[in-house]
Amino acid sequence: MTFETVIGLEVHAQLRTQSKMFCGCATEFGLPANTQTCPVCLGLPGALPVVNKRAVEMAVRTGLALHCTVGTTNQFARKNYFYPDLPKGYQISQYDRPICEHGWLELQVNGTSKKVRIRRAHLEEDAGKNIHADAGSLVDLNRAGTPLIEIVTEPDMRSADEVVSYLKSLRDVLMYIDVCDGNMEQGSLRCEPNLSLRPAGSDELGTKVELKNINSFKFVKDAIEYEIKRQTKVLGEGGTIVQETRLWDIDRGQTAVMRSKEEAHDYRYFPDPDLVPLVISEEWIEELRATIQELPKDRHRRFLRDYGLPDYDAGVLTSSRALADYFEACVTLFAEPKLISNFLMSEFLRELHQAGTTVESSPVSPERLVGLLQLVRDDTISLKVAKEIFPELYAGDKSAAQLVEEKGLRQLSDEGELLSLIDEVIEQHPAQVAQYRGGKETVIGFLVGQAMKRSGGKANPQKVNALFKTRLSS
Ligand code: ADP
Ligand code: MG
Ligand code: ZN
Repeated sequence: MTFETVIGLEVHAQLRTQSKMFCGCATEFGLPANTQTCPVCLGLPGALPVVNKRAVEMAVRTGLALHCTVGTTNQFARKNYFYPDLPKGYQISQYDRPICEHGWLELQVNGTSKKVRIRRAHLEEDAGKNIHADAGSLVDLNRAGTPLIEIVTEPDMRSADEVVSYLKSLRDVLMYIDVCDGNMEQGSLRCEPNLSLRPAGSDELGTKVELKNINSFKFVKDAIEYEIKRQTKVLGEGGTIVQETRLWDIDRGQTAVMRSKEEAHDYRYFPDPDLVPLVISEEWIEELRATIQELPKDRHRRFLRDYGLPDYDAGVLTSSRALADYFEACVTLFAEPKLISNFLMSEFLRELHQAGTTVESSPVSPERLVGLLQLVRDDTISLKVAKEIFPELYAGDKSAAQLVEEKGLRQLSDEGELLSLIDEVIEQHPAQVAQYRGGKETVIGFLVGQAMKRSGGKANPQKVNALFKTRLSS
């Protein structure tokens, strides 16, 4: 029997607020343990939560970017469970009235796109972190109370590649609208795939397994592919899948049982009596809608249409808002999209990468970069020379024109000067000239090479080539 894979995803994204979801503690990553805590996030008796308005705004903006309906009346709920990193004995989350519902996000696999339905997105607080050391287990509550948005899809994905593409699109969107830093290593974006198999052609859902807290694209792909194989084997041998939560074991390259799956009723959800229903006015929603600019996929399509760029280029350039902005700033100054795109994707990104810098803090402004490419376009220098001097342009503050003058890199394009070079070469190599005239056209390469040499590499090779041809045919 052949099986179809069915996957739905739960993603936790950490919202980029300055302070936590229900108290004023900072959310900065990596500070000494328990230095960012207060009675509220420590769960001390009698401490009361206050909703972070910024977090609500970010959740609404996320919902709007994902084409969701935003709930005007929201209720926070207690999700009760015991764990050492959860001092209150419950997590404040949302249950039957989430802030966003019924949206979609597009993914792309093998050149075709597909809409994945978003079931819901709700606000909640993060738990702390347990650290297991030799001396015993410790709890760090710096992360406790950090605002999260949990984004849950319908079971619409069918392969690991679709999941990875969905995740990339989601990460791009969240970073574009500035609600999440997208840093997967630091856990700002964590993903839990739910995966089941069913006989090909069936409409019913099979029993699913949830894969817990995976924080890299590679691990997501590996874990899903492993799990597909495992379930195929179990079902193929006539066995049944147990509904459970499994962990991805990076070292062994396999999933392992973490716990049997808990049901919603195990959590004894109930409205948090400390928090009144959160009312979001239509007016506020519209204000927030106005802050959402063009999203990555739309911008990608516009780059194809308006600049005539290949799909690959548009994908790279729109992968970050800063890079897309930079590109557009360049094109506004100089209408040569493909020349600019090529240069940004190679030299520019390489130089930034080597310096460990971001596009935002690039020392080369669009003006200076365009200045360099203009010299290429008007034949003052070759593209090769432009690439060679780019590191200097990057490191200093001189303009490209200054650098070219100082270093004497101006390309020789003057026809009169080039012709006198060419005539010298013709005079000194009568044998090759005769060969060329006799029909051996490849000899032109040799002759051009000689002229280039004489010019100290500065002659414009295309022009030299063209001039040789007219000279030798006359
Ligand atoms: P739970 O209550 O166990 O968390 P939900 O019904 O809330 O389960 O769904 C959680 C996620 O699992 C959603 O993304 C959903 O699309 C996905 N999902 C639900 N059932 C299945 C299934 N049988 N196979 C694959 N994914 C599923
Ligand atoms: Mg779940
Ligand atoms: Zn606090």
